Amino acid sequence: MQWVRPDDAGYDEARTLFNAMIDRRPAVIAQCTDAADVREALAMARKHGLEVAVRSGGHSVAGMSMIDGGLVVDVRPMKRISFDAESRTATVGGGVTWGEFDRAGQELGLATTGGRVTTTGVSGFTLGGGSGWLDRAWGLACDNLVSVDLVTASGNEVTASATENPELFWALHGGGGNFGVATSFTFNLHDVGPEVFCGLLLWPADAARDAALAFRDYVHSSPEALGANLVGVIAPPEDFVPAQMHGKPALAMVIVHAGSVEEGREAVRPLQELAPAADILAPRPYAEFQGMLDDEPGQFNYWSADYHDQFPDEAVDVFLDYGKTLPHESSQLLLAPWGGAAARVDPASTPMARRTSRWVSHPFALWRDPAQTEEAIGWARGFRRDIAAFTSGGVYLNFIGHEGQDRIKAAFGAENYARLARLKGEYDPENVFRGNQNIQPATAEPAAP
Ligand SMILES: Cc1cc2nc3c(=O)[nH]c(=O)nc-3n(C[C@H](O)[C@H](O)[C@H](O)COP(=O)(O)OP(=O)(O)OC[C@H]3O[C@@H](n4cnc5c(N)ncnc54)[C@H](O)[C@@H]3O)c2cc1C
Repeated sequence: MQWVRPDDAGYDEARTLFNAMIDRRPAVIAQCTDAADVREALAMARKHGLEVAVRSGGHSVAGMSMIDGGLVVDVRPMKRISFDAESRTATVGGGVTWGEFDRAGQELGLATTGGRVTTTGVSGFTLGGGSGWLDRAWGLACDNLVSVDLVTASGNEVTASATENPELFWALHGGGGNFGVATSFTFNLHDVGPEVFCGLLLWPADAARDAALAFRDYVHSSPEALGANLVGVIAPPEDFVPAQMHGKPALAMVIVHAGSVEEGREAVRPLQELAPAADILAPRPYAEFQGMLDDEPGQFNYWSADYHDQFPDEAVDVFLDYGKTLPHESSQLLLAPWGGAAARVDPASTPMARRTSRWVSHPFALWRDPAQTEEAIGWARGFRRDIAAFTSGGVYLNFIGHEGQDRIKAAFGAENYARLARLKGEYDPENVFRGNQNIQPATAEPAAP
């Protein structure tokens, strides 16, 4: 265990998150290598009355994993990665990122649903549900969980699986870091690659409407191995992009097919036939594709999200309009299909409501100049306001920051929220783990006199 305090050399690195808007100064950061370290850190926080935050990949947009003045349980040193080709499972420590996970799986041609970028932590991503390129094929990351080891607020080490503490296991399918510090995750794996057909197609934003409508009409009927998102971007000054598009708004289809390269070519053909201005679809290692959208850390971030049961032409027009006014070259506007295996899970098996939603829209504002903050946040909020007529309620919590208890309740629905609150009351009655999309502990019914 390494304790990092404000005067220590590694302090600034250890308190830095992906979102540069977060600038918090904890009293101490406990860099934990195992469950015993986590127990010690939690005991230290109790002893000194310090508030606790738990940090892994540091991708929380609202900085939920960092705290002013408190104690941060930093699980990043937990880097165990163990892939078992025979049982087709992988067990990884709470500090592993999706890039590390996928590079290890690549060697064996095995993967599970992970992040759309390499730097996201397996921990926060999976505990929040975990939507990625492979979710139409194999469900969310949490749907692939075999078990989770965690240290609870009282310092107990527990394993949650379908057979051990099944109620807790249910809650860990989207209930976030509310129930303890996860030290290890075991996932089911699937054949992926090693090479997959993947890449992107690009259109100038002002000539993208037909392609966007065709994408909307095709994707849900396409093979479930196809992971494809519509993304409003600023075209980068890369060789594969026609020079006249450089630095201008563009519509991208970011695509990966998790089956054979031949099946992939077949599945994307209807999209390639939409006359893109740039086409860099090709066979590549899956782990290489997964890094194609990586953003530089150190930028300012604000995001939000909504579910949609339908995405009519009028909604596509709102999406395209906002894609033309991205606040910065790093900002993106995503439309992800939500369906396939992710929609087929038994609704009772996870607390997340609206698993059968058809789409998720996700304004993802990134910018560099603090003077642009108001404009960038205004852009993301403006999109939410203008797309509101086409939303279905509920929200995918991994894609938002602090938007209040109503949004958290909407993400689970009243019944599941009440069940989560009862469990929170059992595992964390004092709400030690509150740096998250917080579930308020239900207090036990007072005993009858
Ligand atoms: C560039 C980028 C791309 C993204 N892409 C996707 C995507 O494709 N799909 C998607 O679903 N989400 C995506 N996200 C959102 C991301 O999944 C969430 O922000 C997630 O919570 C990040 O997890 P983390 O471990 O990296 O972050 P952290 O900031 O370290 O933690 C996030 C939350 O999880 C809790 N937590 C972290 N580790 C533990 C642990 N070991 N035990 C208990 N609680 C813990 C923290 O306390 C905090 O509440 C993306 C985020 C970014 C910045």
